[in-house]
Amino acid sequence: MNEQIDSVIIGGGHAGLTMSYYLRQLGREHLILERGRVAERWSSERWDSFCFQFPNWTIEAPEYKYQSDNPEAFAPGREIVRFIQDYATFIKAPIRCGVDVTSLERKSDSGRYLLTTSNGIIEAANVVIATGPYQRAAIPTMSSDIPKNFFQVHSSAYRNPNQLPPGAVLVVGSGASGCQIADDLQRSGRQVYLSVGHHNRVPRRYRGKDFAYWGATLKRAEQIVDTVPLNLRKGAEVLLTGANGGYDVDLRAMAARGIVLLGHSQGIKDGDLMLADDLEQHLAKGDESFENFKKAVDEYVTKAGLDVPEVKESDMRPNTITAISNSISHLNLKDAGISAIVWASGFRYDFDWVKLPIFDDGGEPVHRRGVTQLPGAYFLGLRWLYKRRSSFLLRAGPAEDAAYLAEQIAARS
Ligand SMILES: Cc1cc2nc3c(=O)[nH]c(=O)nc-3n(C[C@H](O)[C@H](O)[C@H](O)COP(=O)(O)OP(=O)(O)OC[C@H]3O[C@@H](n4cnc5c(N)ncnc54)[C@H](O)[C@@H]3O)c2cc1C
Repeated sequence: MNEQIDSVIIGGGHAGLTMSYYLRQLGREHLILERGRVAERWSSERWDSFCFQFPNWTIEAPEYKYQSDNPEAFAPGREIVRFIQDYATFIKAPIRCGVDVTSLERKSDSGRYLLTTSNGIIEAANVVIATGPYQRAAIPTMSSDIPKNFFQVHSSAYRNPNQLPPGAVLVVGSGASGCQIADDLQRSGRQVYLSVGHHNRVPRRYRGKDFAYWGATLKRAEQIVDTVPLNLRKGAEVLLTGANGGYDVDLRAMAARGIVLLGHSQGIKDGDLMLADDLEQHLAKGDESFENFKKAVDEYVTKAGLDVPEVKESDMRPNTITAISNSISHLNLKDAGISAIVWASGFRYDFDWVKLPIFDDGGEPVHRRGVTQLPGAYFLGLRWLYKRRSSFLLRAGPAEDAAYLAEQIAARS
């Protein structure tokens, strides 16, 4: 007979652990299955210089806060791994590591769920899919047109500059990963080309406080999915870094430091990278999001009558207002001395193993606050599952959703 468990949580990241915390609170039998180790993605899919993008005071899980001598500093990635692993111990998480769930189906006779794993079959009344918002590397198809002698790596597999062959590097993508990796490479002495797309620039600090303080004050993390238009939800996350003490990610300043900014990458032909004439447009949009954020803070400060310092533009951007006019329309990779390409081109879902009718035609999970149309099948930790905070570790992001799902599970039986 198959092993029988009331609820199975798939994924041992902080979302899965948070779910476990709330199920235990309600005295519900459950098990977490994790294909790797606790916090696997924080362990094996972040580069060496990566630091948490929000200050230490924001790192928490239910009943558990990150302990640090400096609440305003930014924890290195390995500390985040330790924090999540310690949390698993703290809540005595019933977790089996090294167990991959290869198929999830529903038994038509009983309505119970059948999980085929690398370690046998398990049956459950409830399943919570907490396998992360960033599951599989999304690499543009043009990568297959790049001659074989160029080294290619996705941002999730990038570790440090020494991993790459000597020479210049092309980084494709100007989200937080692309910008951080471009900086990492440039600081090591590499010539870097950065292909820029849509990005959402914000100040690291403004009027004496970190971005996270203003984010919390303006209640941005609390925005509910229905109240924010789809294009904004699908858009880029804010550009932040906690590396080297945290600083403004400013593409114009990066250009002033020697990083060559390029337009959006459109394709490769005969070793030539074809580029869109949209660099200025993306930079201008980035500046606009930066200004909008400051304006929102200023308005709040005035309305609430807060006593915080004024910050002038000249204090924010010393010597960085570099005009970047001539967009390059194509770049011959070999002539530019490029030996390696880092695809900071994002992620997509990897739900092929979930054989349940809980996805739309485009493969997007269909749910309301994590609750799917199938009784007992739930999602947790996805981007905008319910609120902006739902997928972040920042300030116990999935806690409210996990508490809600635990109540749903308890109500079923
Ligand atoms: C480069 C990068 C930087 C980030 N920086 C920050 C930051 O500074 N602050 C912040 O708050 N957030 C940050 N995030 C977002 C954050 O990493 C994720 O939102 C968060 O880790 C999600 O946690 P999770 O538990 O939902 O998923 P994950 O941490 O992805 O955990 C999911 C787990 O499920 C396991 N799994 C997957 N499929 C299966 C299966 N079939 N069977 C068994 N196990 C499976 C995986 O091994 C993994 O351990 C960053 C994300 C990226 C990509």
